[in-house]
Amino acid sequence: MIQEKGTISIHTENIFPIIKKFLYSDHEIFLRELVSNAVDAIQKAKRLVSMGQFHGELDAPLVQVKVDAAAKTITISDNGIGMTADEIKKYINQIAFSGAEDFLAKFKDAKDANEIIGQFGLGFYSAFMVAERVEIQTLSYQKGAATARWENDGTTEFEIREGSRTERGTDVILYINEENKEFLEKYRLQQILDKYAKFLPVPVQFGTRTESEPDGEDEEGKPKYKSVEVPNIVNTTSPIWTKAPSELKDEDYLNFYRELYPFGDDPLFWIHLNVDYPFSLTGVLYFPKIKNEIEIQRNKIKLFSRQVFITDEVKDIVPEFLMLLHGVIDSPDIPLNVSRSFLQADSNVKKINTYITKKVADKLAELFKNDRKSYEEKWNDIGVFVKYGAISEPKFWDRAKDFVLLSNTQKEFFTLGEYNDKVKETQTDKNGNIVYLYTVNADRQDGYIQAANKKGYDVLVMDSPLDNHFISHLERDLEKTQIKRVDADVLEKLIEKDEVIESKLSEEQAKELKEIFEKAITKPGMEVTVENLNEEAMPVSVTMDEFMRRMKDMAALGGGMGFYGSMPDRFKVSINANHPLATKILAESNDDTRKALAHQAFDLALLAQGMLTGADLTNFVERNVKLI
Ligand code: ADP
Repeated sequence: MIQEKGTISIHTENIFPIIKKFLYSDHEIFLRELVSNAVDAIQKAKRLVSMGQFHGELDAPLVQVKVDAAAKTITISDNGIGMTADEIKKYINQIAFSGAEDFLAKFKDAKDANEIIGQFGLGFYSAFMVAERVEIQTLSYQKGAATARWENDGTTEFEIREGSRTERGTDVILYINEENKEFLEKYRLQQILDKYAKFLPVPVQFGTRTESEPDGEDEEGKPKYKSVEVPNIVNTTSPIWTKAPSELKDEDYLNFYRELYPFGDDPLFWIHLNVDYPFSLTGVLYFPKIKNEIEIQRNKIKLFSRQVFITDEVKDIVPEFLMLLHGVIDSPDIPLNVSRSFLQADSNVKKINTYITKKVADKLAELFKNDRKSYEEKWNDIGVFVKYGAISEPKFWDRAKDFVLLSNTQKEFFTLGEYNDKVKETQTDKNGNIVYLYTVNADRQDGYIQAANKKGYDVLVMDSPLDNHFISHLERDLEKTQIKRVDADVLEKLIEKDEVIESKLSEEQAKELKEIFEKAITKPGMEVTVENLNEEAMPVSVTMDEFMRRMKDMAALGGGMGFYGSMPDRFKVSINANHPLATKILAESNDDTRKALAHQAFDLALLAQGMLTGADLTNFVERNVKLI
C-alpha cells in the first residue's frame, strides 16, 4: 500500500541531471556522504541515551557497507536513530535552499562538489551521482514508530510506503547506474573507504576477511589454527588526534605517522593541536625530514571534519610555509563549502592560521631552549621551515628571531645576537656597518674564504635555495648590517676600513698596467681596475657585485628573465697594484711577455672562481704544460 506519493520540493524541473552533470569529477564522495549520515544517526542515538531520552537497548554501534554486484546495489546500513515517514518528508524531501535559480547559478560556478553539497545540505542526494534509483528502509527509535520505505528513481516524484526493516536504523540502497558500475568493484569501494572513512568515530564494516584463530592442539601438542571469517572493519575509531596528549607516548605519534606515510622516514618532532575556543580544532602536525628542498612535498596535511576526511588541499587554511609539514587537522569550524578566496577571508580560518603559527613557534622555541645541541643537529631540516616562515609570515618572524640559526664554514651555530657579537669587532666598516660575509659553496670559494679567515673575518654558509631570499630578509631586518658574498669584491672593498693603503705605482704606471690587462683579456664583460690592495692579496681577482648577482639569482630562481635576468654578466677584474707581479709586468720590455703574464694572472683568477671553463681552460692547461 502506497502511503504517500508526492513531489520533492525543489522549484526546478529536475535536479538530478544537474547533480550528475556538475559533480562529475567527484562521484566517489557519495559514499563519504552516506557513511557520514549513518555515523551521525548512530551518534545521535548515543546522545539520546546519554540524555535519558532513548527507549530500548542500544546495541554495538555499526555502519555496514555492502555491495551486491549481481543486483548492482550498494547498501549503507546503520543502527542509528532511524526516521519516521514524517521525518523523511521533512529531511529528505524538502531540500533546503533559498531558491532554484540561486541554486543553479551556484552550480554553474562551483569548482568541486564540496562547494555545493554542504552548502545546500545535499549530502544524501549525492547518491544520485551514481545511482538510477535510491531506496531508504528505516525504522525510527521513537516509541511505536512504523517502518518506512522511501523510493525515488531520479525524478522529482517520490513514494513513501510501509517498509520492511525490523530493527531500528536505516538502510540506504543504491541501484548503481551503468556509467558508475566501477563502484560495484570491491577494491574500488575499499579504496574510497580507506580515503574517507579510515578514522570515522563509529566502526564501519565492509564485508569480511579471513583470519587464523587458535584451534586447540594437535597430537604432538603443537598449537593448531583454523581460518575464520571476521568482520572487516575499515576504520580506527579513536585516532590519536582525538586523544589527550597526556595519554600518548612518542611511539603512538610515530606509529600514527608511519600509518599515514608508510614509506617515509620518521619525523623529527610533532605538535599536538588541541583547542576548543574560539574555534574548535584538533590535530597532529609533524616536521618531516627534508632530504632536499627540490623535492619538498606539499599537500601532506589531511583535513578532516569530525573525523571525516575532506581533502589534502589545505592551502589557505594552513600558512603557506607550514605546507611543508605533514599530519592531520580536524576542525568542524572550517567552512568546506565556500570558494577558496572566501576561505582566505574567513575569520575562523584566519584565527586557525594564527593559532597554528603560534604553536609551531612555541614548539621550536621550546626545542631550542631545552636541547640546543639536538636542535643544531636538526637545523638542516628545521632551518627550511624557519627560514621559509621568516620570509613569508611576519608574525612568525617576530618569534623566530630568537631561534633562527646562522652557521659558518667551521660548522659552528649562532643565534642572530650571538653572531652579531662575534663579528662586530672585526667586521665593522668605516661607516659603522657590520658586514656579514657568506659563501654559497665553501668548496668552490675556498680561496676567498681562506683569505677572509686570514684577515680574521668569519664566513657564513648560505647554501640552500631559500637563503637567497633569507639574506635579503635579514638585511632588511637587521640594523646597520650588510650581507655580502665572500667573492663579491676584493676583501679590502668588501669591508672597507679607514686605513689608506699606499700605492707602489705612480698614476702613469697604474694606467699602463690597466692597458696591458685590457689588451690581454679578451673575455667579454670584464671591467679592469687597478686597486691599492695588500701585498699578500691575490695579484688579480675576478668578482661580481653583490647587488648585481643577487638580482640575477632572483631572476633565475623566479624562472623568468626580467630586466636583471636579461642583462649580460659583468665582472670586475681587480689588479693589485701592490703585488710584486704588478711591478714585474711593468718592468718587462717585451709587449708579448707582458701580455702573456697578464693573461696568465687573469686565468688564475678565473680558475680560483671556478670560471675558467671550456676552450679557455684547455688553452690554459696546454700553455702550462709547455711551460713545464
Ligand atoms: P545533512 O547531513 O547535511 O543534514 P543530508 O542530505 O545528508 O544533509 O541529510 C539530510 C537529513 O536526513 C539529515 O540531517 C538527517 O536528519 C536525515 N538522514 C540522512 N541519513 C540518515 C540516516 N542514515 N539515519 C537517520 N537520518 C538520516
